Amino acid sequence: MRITRRTLFAGAGAGALALLLASCTPDEPEPKPVEPSKTPEPTVDPTPVGEIPEAAAMFRTAWAADPYAFGARSVTPAGVTSVERAALAAPLMDRVFFAGEATSTERPGTVAGAADEGRRAAAQLAELADDGERIAVVGAGIAGSAAAGLLAEGGFAVTVIEARDRIGGRLATEATDDWPVPPQHGAWLFAPDDQAAAKLALVGVGSVDVDGRAGIGADGEVDAPSTEQIAKALATAREASADTPLAEALGEELSDELRAALDGYSAFTGIDPETASSWYAPELPAEPHTALVSDVAPFVEDALGDVDVTLSTVVSNISYDEEGVSVRFASGESITVDRLIVTVPIGVLQTDAIGFEPPLPFEHRGAISALEMGHMEAVWLRYETPFWETTAGVWQLVGPIGDDAATEEPSAGEPEGDATEGEQPDGETSAPPVIRTWINLLPTTGEPILVGLVGGRDARGLAELADDELHELARASLAPFADPPADGA
Ligand SMILES: Cc1cc2nc3c(=O)[nH]c(=O)nc-3n(C[C@H](O)[C@H](O)[C@H](O)COP(=O)(O)OP(=O)(O)OC[C@H]3O[C@@H](n4cnc5c(N)ncnc54)[C@H](O)[C@@H]3O)c2cc1C
Repeated sequence: MRITRRTLFAGAGAGALALLLASCTPDEPEPKPVEPSKTPEPTVDPTPVGEIPEAAAMFRTAWAADPYAFGARSVTPAGVTSVERAALAAPLMDRVFFAGEATSTERPGTVAGAADEGRRAAAQLAELADDGERIAVVGAGIAGSAAAGLLAEGGFAVTVIEARDRIGGRLATEATDDWPVPPQHGAWLFAPDDQAAAKLALVGVGSVDVDGRAGIGADGEVDAPSTEQIAKALATAREASADTPLAEALGEELSDELRAALDGYSAFTGIDPETASSWYAPELPAEPHTALVSDVAPFVEDALGDVDVTLSTVVSNISYDEEGVSVRFASGESITVDRLIVTVPIGVLQTDAIGFEPPLPFEHRGAISALEMGHMEAVWLRYETPFWETTAGVWQLVGPIGDDAATEEPSAGEPEGDATEGEQPDGETSAPPVIRTWINLLPTTGEPILVGLVGGRDARGLAELADDELHELARASLAPFADPPADGA
């Protein structure tokens, strides 16, 4: 059941959950979520890119600016280990518990890892709690929903507090009648043997297999490196005697082909090979990818069961001691519960959006600053008719392309040269973004839809672009895949 904040407080007053309500002064204005754009906006006289038509519709994600995520998934930079993730998972005074994809040591950054962690935290809490205790969960993503559902099954009075006006967190489907296949904001491509993919199918979320690869290099068609080849390279990197950035660890070993393959690595992982840990580098999902083609909500609803979710309620402060936990909202209201599970993304914990009293222990703060929030964005393009003939499901631009080829953009593992422009939010400069990875949904859905995937540095660059700039960038990156290749490709 979804309830509003008003209902939660009415319920608390009636003793439904026996939540104790205290009134506090609002401290900060509630941040407004940034809505992903649903263009097509009319573009300013688009530069014609060969034969690539303008898309009939465009949808783009906006995770970098999302105030309840600040990125796509946690990633492990070189020098950081799963020890930091375990440290983040440690409970505070047996009252405040942490869960989410970032606390997973087995499958960090994934839906399956987040769900497992939600259940782990719920079981840990249930071991300590007495019957009838009041439990709250912050965040109605899959971790919070799995935790709440399990606790409710165990007979606890549990409520979920969620900042957005919807459940699902980083699992969300765009509600629209304009698209025959609805665009997905977050996770939507899984390996066939992924636990989450199996569960998604069980609850009736539709999917298709995305199979086959097409590669284009500077001189035309090339063999796109397979996920098996990349897995082999990652295994080699893991054997390095010290943890170094992935690209550096592979620098000496890699064939040109595999080096180029790392260009597409961040689109699926969210981390740049130049900073990724070689010991904890995420695998690419095996193929064929299971791609979701319907609303993902039933998956999260199934995990939640009958638990109440209070939507549009931003948690701003958590005070805890050995007796219980007081949770304050940005509205100024607060509730008191016996125990709490926090599932907000690490991107949120890295800001001061949620204050902790007493402050988080040193180990937690160390883990939060050591882990990184990786970036992944997607651009969905729908065409009236296809301009391509390949039936390959994954398209990959391999190595330097077009203008990049002329300026010799450094490949993964090579130091960046002078061919840089544009300043990133962290002050670094980098080359303009390139959309190197495309998912072709035509062969399996019959719909002329292409989804461009970018990650790491390119995703941060993409987030800065206006809609018309992004559309032109997409057309330029698609030019080599036109049949015949578009002018200049
Ligand atoms: C573009 C993209 C592609 C991805 N691709 C894949 C993939 O292919 N395979 C895969 O397995 N995983 C993928 N992931 C990662 C996957 O989506 C996440 O690992 C998983 O959904 C995280 O679940 P969670 O419950 O830990 O966090 P979330 O889903 O982020 O849930 C946390 C909740 O906390 C809420 N919240 C935040 N701040 C507050 C606050 N102050 N007060 C109250 N509530 C708050 C948020 O709104 C959110 O609902 C992808 C993610 C993205 C963004």
